[in-house]
Amino acid sequence: MRFLSTRGDAPAVGLSAAIAAGLAPDGGLYVPAAFPRADLDAIAPDATLPEIAAWLLRPWFAGDPLAAHLDAICREALAFDTPLRPLPWDDTYLLELFHGPTAAFKDVGARFLAACMRRLRAPSDPPLTILVATSGDTGAAVGAAFHRLPGFRVVILYPDGRVSPRQAHQLGCFGDNVHAFRVAGSFDDCQRMVKTALGDTDLQARTPLSSANSISLGRLLPQMSYYAQAALRLHAEHGVAPDFVVPTGNLGNALACVWARTMGLPIGKVHLACNANAVLPDFLAGADYAPRASVATLANAMDVGAPSNAERLRWMFDDDFIRAQFTAQSVDDVAIRDTVRALAAEHDLVVCPHTATALHVLARLRDADPSRLRVAVATAHPAKFEGVIEPLIGRSVPVPSTLDHLLRRVAHAEPLPADDDALREVLLDSVR
Ligand SMILES: *Cc1c(COP(=O)(O)O)cnc(C)c1O
Repeated sequence: MRFLSTRGDAPAVGLSAAIAAGLAPDGGLYVPAAFPRADLDAIAPDATLPEIAAWLLRPWFAGDPLAAHLDAICREALAFDTPLRPLPWDDTYLLELFHGPTAAFKDVGARFLAACMRRLRAPSDPPLTILVATSGDTGAAVGAAFHRLPGFRVVILYPDGRVSPRQAHQLGCFGDNVHAFRVAGSFDDCQRMVKTALGDTDLQARTPLSSANSISLGRLLPQMSYYAQAALRLHAEHGVAPDFVVPTGNLGNALACVWARTMGLPIGKVHLACNANAVLPDFLAGADYAPRASVATLANAMDVGAPSNAERLRWMFDDDFIRAQFTAQSVDDVAIRDTVRALAAEHDLVVCPHTATALHVLARLRDADPSRLRVAVATAHPAKFEGVIEPLIGRSVPVPSTLDHLLRRVAHAEPLPADDDALREVLLDSVR
């Protein structure tokens, strides 16, 4: 399969090249030249997640050197559960994506990317540095996925004081080949520093760099598999295609749901649940698409003012079609708090602030029409955000063993000015 750039000014490439590059040379995002269709007769509704991923991704890998490794990559990357739990209302479910090593759905994409990239590396290649700017969850998932992987080094930049204490601990706890820097600036500063470094050809010649942000195909593709698994199972049980409500920031997770639907999976409507950063809700309500500076909210991993994957969605469909097919709603911090509190008190259901946006939107949709089959997506474990959640619910949140394991390690992060040259120095230091 061939991949094109959304900006139309870069040569078509194969899958391995698209995964290795991240961004296309014209600054666009890689998209498939043609959408493959899934052969629904060739999979059982009760197949495992790695089996479903390999079945779904087979046509995407066709003709690529990684095709021979696809089964092994899926088994290695998707070695944890993504359970579908019934919610206390009729025909509604919660798809839990936080049972991986760092307790957020980012583990799926990061582990798949690492499984692909380590197979793309030749033993004679110089060490590759993976640069990540993170607002909290991505850095930890990428750190965990590449930790102690020979030939790779990870450099994580996060905005000092703007991630939760447990997120900060996770980012700094790996050590070895994973280096965490707390930047005296915002997430936007971190992102700018990464972009500048990636575009610095002199620097790249001295120490090769790559990135692992949410525009990477290697992260996007495997995220289709848990939607496929949930959709196949629910369709078999209920005879209708479920709608999904997805907590949304950079639109990577929701776009994977849209791509799975485009491949022919039984998926109904896709609803985007955003926090107070309302670029997508405003656009879907008819305004021009207008990226803007982000505002800080309780759902910090969704504090995005310019959703990077919007470029892929708008390349696939025209604006009117997008407005007809998808809905997006903004959920403010007051509603996030109310939702967390009410679910814990009334249903003994404890969720993270991101998941609360989806459950709030689910409640609004149910009020309007209770008859549809719906799935809300749970993107992180609430124990990652205990500082927000525990005061609201008045009790402590048990820490899952995976997270506990990381929290017991010693954590260390170096301070770094929000300055492009400071990052350049850090990256060159280790090769001198
Ligand atoms: C990253 C993240 C999101 C947003 O996902 P996108 O793919 O950027 O839309 C939502 N919730 C949590 C917990 C996250 O870490």
